[in-house]
Amino acid sequence: MPLSVLEFLAHPGRRFPVEMVLEAVDDETHDLRTVREVRLEGEAFAQLATLYVDVEMTAVIAQPCGRCLKSLETPFVLREAFTVRIPPTADEVDVRPTIVSLILSAHNPNALCRPACRGLCGTCGADLNEDPRHVCTERDRENRRLGDFLQP
Ligand SMILES: [Zn+2]
Ligand SMILES: [Zn+2]
Repeated sequence: MPLSVLEFLAHPGRRFPVEMVLEAVDDETHDLRTVREVRLEGEAFAQLATLYVDVEMTAVIAQPCGRCLKSLETPFVLREAFTVRIPPTADEVDVRPTIVSLILSAHNPNALCRPACRGLCGTCGADLNEDPRHVCTERDRENRRLGDFLQP
């Protein structure tokens, strides 16, 4: 999602408001997380081929719950000042890669769907949130099958 830098370059050092929405990019997964839509609000100025950005970023992050793997979409807000190099003769810069990596390094990669998530049964993978009284029979069955196999 390019940000036009013409106005910034025409007035070095002058601060202009930045207000834009970076659309979600599909197939863009970092570890297990995807940064979906990001709203930017703040200001920026250009100086010596560098864009100085100071914005509040409101992002939606999709990831699986660290215990039960259910997919979560949670909002995340980060205020950060950073710089982006403006290539010579460029009239716009792509701020998304910088923003995505700032958001991901500040965000918890092991979020849970809720603090008391019970996770999955370690043997059969049953969701223990849906079935809190789950008593696993998988192991017994496997032992029995192995027992059958060992019969002479
Ligand atoms: Zn969970
Ligand atoms: Zn089980």
